[in-house]
Amino acid sequence: MLTTAPRGTKDIMPADVKAWRYLEETMRRICAQYGYKEIRTPVFEHTELFLRGIGETTDVVEKEMYTFTDRGNRSITLRPENTASAVRAYIEHKLYAEPAPTKLFYIGPMFRYDRPQAGRYRQFHQFGIEALGIQGPNIDAEIILLAVQILQSLGLKDLKLKINSVGCPKCRPLHREKLQAFFKPHFDELCKDCQSRYARNPLRLLDCKNPHCHELGDGAPSLEECLCDECREHFEGLKKLLTAAGIEYEIDHNLVRGLDYYTKTAFEIQYQPLGAQSAVCGGGRYDGLIEEVGGPATPGIGFAMGMERVLLALESQNLLPAEMESMDVFAVCPNQEYFPTVFKTVIDLRRAGLKAEFDFQGRSMKAQMKQANKVNARNVLIFGEDEFARGQVVLRNMATSEQKEIAITDIITNLQAEV
Ligand code: AMP
Repeated sequence: MLTTAPRGTKDIMPADVKAWRYLEETMRRICAQYGYKEIRTPVFEHTELFLRGIGETTDVVEKEMYTFTDRGNRSITLRPENTASAVRAYIEHKLYAEPAPTKLFYIGPMFRYDRPQAGRYRQFHQFGIEALGIQGPNIDAEIILLAVQILQSLGLKDLKLKINSVGCPKCRPLHREKLQAFFKPHFDELCKDCQSRYARNPLRLLDCKNPHCHELGDGAPSLEECLCDECREHFEGLKKLLTAAGIEYEIDHNLVRGLDYYTKTAFEIQYQPLGAQSAVCGGGRYDGLIEEVGGPATPGIGFAMGMERVLLALESQNLLPAEMESMDVFAVCPNQEYFPTVFKTVIDLRRAGLKAEFDFQGRSMKAQMKQANKVNARNVLIFGEDEFARGQVVLRNMATSEQKEIAITDIITNLQAEV
């Protein structure tokens, strides 16, 4: 146990970090194009924030939170998502006093006591967007485009964008009644969770993972029929903008977020080849959330993208860049008497901005050359005895095998010219 990471967590090893950085850099670059600024919130918050901000009837809150009492007797929870924290920070730092929209993005680890499997972990990473302060569908379309642009610029094809409108507290009660009437004859057949959702939150019956509940939901009254004029207009506006931008989408009435503060737009981007965990990105509008968490009534919309899932998708399509790590120079020191000079040279090279490495163990010349190959050194400096006596070293270009003698005092200028 001591030598394995906890279930559902993973080390990101040096060989994997390149792919992570590539993904993060792509996300940061595209966020800058769209004018989104990074926010970094604590990885833990007061539990109450998530009870309010995610909702007490959700699976995340009911079953998946890492909650503990700290030494000061406060209930603390490791963040299972970042929206609630971003909204808390928005209120705490009075960002609502600045001109709307407030455009934020985040990248970081989230924690859920989920059942681990491929694409589902207990510590996982999300990239996400929150756009606060704007009412109409224009910003909904913008953030969907941002998500799509990231995935497309990584080279992913076969993405499926699903959208829906979950209405608002004005139009949902009618749908709620219709849903309850629809499911009533089948109440006894519903799973335990759905039986409890039936009264508390019947909209969530539509996204139950249980296959039988799913079947029972076939033909359930759709929210679209019940939308009020404002929600209908908003949804039509969004569809128009997506079409104008040339983005294909599918309307999925079962795409729901069943809490009062989730309003209007809900969307998901799927990458089908990932199978059961095909959702790479999910989001929606939450016009009631900021008020719920204690701020002024402010509209908002956001999404979160699962980084591990995007990486799985990229890996499966061979879309990860195969760029090799390399060193600019490796200093070979066959005689330990010269080591202080070699050490000083390497340090000076590093101070000059070059990537330089040497052998720490006083090994044979052959072993040091082997190591130079292993670290993919583009040049090697050999501090041979004859040359050293004359204040010279051999500089070898590893790609061409060309070598020349240079003065020890000219090493930096020569290497800067090579690199
Ligand atoms: P959610 O915050 O549940 O809407 O999830 C947003 C995205 O985060 C999903 O579409 C997944 O890509 C990813 N995600 C959610 N839960 C997990 C998990 N346990 N492990 C890995 N990725 C996850």
